[in-house]
Order: sequence, then C-alpha cells, then structure tokens
Amino acid sequence: MNQNLYSLLFAHFPKDSAAPCMILPDGRVWTYGDVERASARMANLIVELGLKPGGRVAAQVEKTPEALVLYLAALRAGMVFLPLNPAYQRHELEYFLKDATPGLFVCRPQMRVLADELAAQAGAGNGCTVLDLDDDGRGSLISAATPQPDSFSTVARTTADLAAILYTSGTTGRSKGAMLSHGNLAHNARTLHAYWHFASGDVLLHMLPIFHVHGLFVACHCVLLNGSAMFFEPKFDAARAMKLLAQSTVFMGVPTYYVRLLLDPAFGRDTCRNIRLFVSGSAPLLKETFDEFKLRSGHTILERYGMTEGGMFTSNPYAGERRGGTVGFPLPGTSLQIVGAGGAAVKPGVVGNIQVKGDNVFVGYWGMPEKTQEEFTADGYFKTGDMGTLDADGYLVISGRSKDLVITGGLNVYPKEIEELIDAMPGVVESAVIGLPHPDFGEAVSAVVVRQKNPAGAALTEASIIGAIKGQLANFKVPKWVYLVDQLPRNAMGKVQKNILRQQYSPMRSR
Ligand code: AMP
Repeated sequence: MNQNLYSLLFAHFPKDSAAPCMILPDGRVWTYGDVERASARMANLIVELGLKPGGRVAAQVEKTPEALVLYLAALRAGMVFLPLNPAYQRHELEYFLKDATPGLFVCRPQMRVLADELAAQAGAGNGCTVLDLDDDGRGSLISAATPQPDSFSTVARTTADLAAILYTSGTTGRSKGAMLSHGNLAHNARTLHAYWHFASGDVLLHMLPIFHVHGLFVACHCVLLNGSAMFFEPKFDAARAMKLLAQSTVFMGVPTYYVRLLLDPAFGRDTCRNIRLFVSGSAPLLKETFDEFKLRSGHTILERYGMTEGGMFTSNPYAGERRGGTVGFPLPGTSLQIVGAGGAAVKPGVVGNIQVKGDNVFVGYWGMPEKTQEEFTADGYFKTGDMGTLDADGYLVISGRSKDLVITGGLNVYPKEIEELIDAMPGVVESAVIGLPHPDFGEAVSAVVVRQKNPAGAALTEASIIGAIKGQLANFKVPKWVYLVDQLPRNAMGKVQKNILRQQYSPMRSR
C-alpha cells in the first residue's frame, strides 16, 4: 500500500466532495473536492518543473488555503516540504536555501527580488525555480498551476521517505532542519486523532500559523484525517475567536491565545457553548490561566507537549483528569524516560532530562549526521533538551529547556520553581528567570518581571521581590538581580525568548 501521508489523509476525505474543508473569513468555502483538485494541479506543476521525488519545496508565504494546498501537493508529488516563517529575513533565508537546496521556492511577491537572488546562489547549478503567492492566494504559483490537469496519481512513498523538513527555532547556534518522514507524520496524526476523540461533526477553529508543527501538522492533520471542516483564519484575533468559537467544537492554541481571550470581559460559558475541546501547547500554560479559564468557561484546557522533532509526545487525558501545570502522560506509541546527568533514570519527583522514543520521533537533522548521533542515546531515545519530572501519579511536569537551566556556584536552579513563586505575588503578570554571567558564581539567578498596571504592580521593586522570595527558597535560588519590564519577548508560538533576555541584560550588570 502507498504509505504517502496524502494517501492516508485522502482515504478519510468525505465521500461527498462538496463537503467543506476550509471556511475562510469572508465566508468562501474550500470543499474537499477543491482541495483534491487544486493539490493535483500543483503536484502536476511541481513535476513539470523538473523536481524529482525527494526534492525540496520551500515555502515562505502567509497562511492561505493555497499555502496549505501547496503542502499537500508537495506530499502528493513525493517532495519534501519546507515551511518557513514569513518573519525570516535575508540572513536566515540565505542559510535555509543553501542548506536545503530546494528545487522550488515559493515566496511572497514582496520578497521576489531577494528570493531570485538567493535561489540563484543556493541552487549552485541545480536550478531552483522561484514562484510567488500573495496574501490573497494569488501569484505566479497559481497562474502556473491553473492550466495543469485536475487529477494526479499520488507518488508512492514508504514510511521512511521524507515528507518535511522543519527548521528548529534555533535559539542557540545554527538552526537545524528536523527531517520528518511520512511514517512519523502519519503515526502522530493517527494517534492524536484517536486520543482527542475527533468524530464526525467536529469543526476546528484554526488560528495558528502553518509554518510550525502545531498549526500545520497537529491541527490540520486532525481535521483532514477526520474529513471535517475548519475555520481557516489568517491569524489569532481574540474578537474573531469570540465569534467563531460558538460555531466550532475544537480550538487549538498557544497559551497567549488563552490569556488574550480571558482579557475580554464578555468571554465566558456562552462563548464556548459549542466547544468540546480546548488544546494548549508549544509553551507552558500558567496554572493561573488554566484555573481562570476553567472558572470563566467551564472548560478544562487539555495541555499537551511536543516539539518539531517528533510532533506530540505527551497529552493530558481526554476523559480522565486534566491536571493544570502538567502535560499529562506519554501518548500511545511514545516511550518517555527521565534521566539524570549520568543517563540513569531518576525517581518520580526528581527533575531530569526528558528522552523519547517512538514512530513519531524524527529521522535526524538534515545534513548533520554527527549532531543527530549526539542527540540520540545508544538505545534510540531522542534527547529532547527539555527537563522535567513525573508527579506522584505519573503526570509529566516540564521544568524548562536544559539550556535555560541556571548553574550558580555549581548548583542547579530550575527557572520554573522561581517563576512560579514570583508569578503568584500580587501585582505580577508573569516572569522569566534566567542566568546572567557573574564573576563569583558563574551565573547569577536573575528575574525579569512584568508588573500589572495597578497599584499592586506599581508597588513592586527589585528589593520587594527579592525579599518575598528569601525565606521561601534556599538562598542560592533567590534572584540576585530583578528587572521590571512591560512585557517579555515572545516568538510567533508564544514562547518566551530567554536568549534575547540574556543578551539584553548581560551587559547591563557588567557596566
Ligand atoms: P517547537 O519545536 O517550536 O515546537 O518547540 C518545542 C519546545 O516547546 C519543547 O521542546 C518545549 O521546550 C516547549 N513546549 C512545547 N509544549 C510545551 C508545553 N505544553 N509546556 C511547556 N513547554 C512546551
């Protein structure tokens, strides 16, 4: 049987090709038939351009139905899809194109001149065609695909063949291309579809970007495997969400979306009357957000954990207790272990390095065999780079990235423990704890704190925050330095960019 992921998805498309797949903000609908025919035209075009199975199709475009169809077309034609964040500029693009040497690069019209220049360099004689696609789904990609035939026989792929390369956010060192196979993506899609009880009649509200694992794989695969409809919105917008939630049954978001929904006083049970499942992930959901959301909406957010290198690894249960501040249990088919520095498993309650193994775990980093080898144990576990612990009932609690671990005077400090204390103080919105270079301690525990715009927030000072933590925690964990700010830097997936904070604050203290 053809193991091409598109064949699996297609097998679940509704019998009625007029059934809606994507519902756009202006009310236009892309039916499953439209998706099938448009992806066939684009797949034919890709083949006509001379790309051979295994060739790369890079896309740096806004979120449109055509962009999703381009992904499906690349799968159908046996190509490897490379979605790129539209925020990337010359320096980043140059690296990705040189590294992945795509045969086709689809860009936005405003990037066309740069794209032509970079593609000419990157192709190194192999030839990289550049086409464009604008924010309204028009451009040379569409003009070239329109005359192509409406049908295409999906190219046979094995589970081991590559389907996509997703570049990791690369907050330290070079960004790495995580190679995901048809088998990896199909495994995770099937698992999540079943675990989260997708069923006929579901409608997803899709407001995530589609250059990332969350929006492209987790969200779209669940919908396509379910043959159901999604509201396909260009981006998150709280006011739009307030309207569309009433017509949806599932919502997937990063924690920031939930925080923003709660800012609207009108948000409540009535807004969510039709929803059966709220999923959160890609960054830690604060326990307060989880609790307030439950209070206001009557819904318990299901938090899950995963990463580019393998999709989802753990999830809170669908039917059992969803525990705030945890990311639940390993998903079926994923083995998870928590190990200490020496590689031996640690006891529940002890923080260690999270390692995972399973059919969803990626094949390796593109063009980096040594790096790939370093990141896997001898028995095939992937070292996620995240630290965490299992609570008494086996729920996984994430403590943060190991590179964010602060080592002060030779002692390990897990930022989350301190962040939780600071976040619970009156007047605090949120905080990020980082290590900054210190002449005696190596690193000094430092806290960057966002204050509420109220008297309790205004009353907060470096001394009051440090004073409140002293006595609650061992002295070496008490922040030496505190910075009060209006907001924390976040990337498109709502992750706090601690690398930026470290850069920003390091020189200040040494001056
Ligand atoms: P990405 O590869 O961009 O999806 O980022 C993956 C990283 O996001 C993981 O390695 C974690 O550090 C973090 N992450 C994802 N989901 C969660 C979660 N529910 N709670 C805390 N961190 C998370």
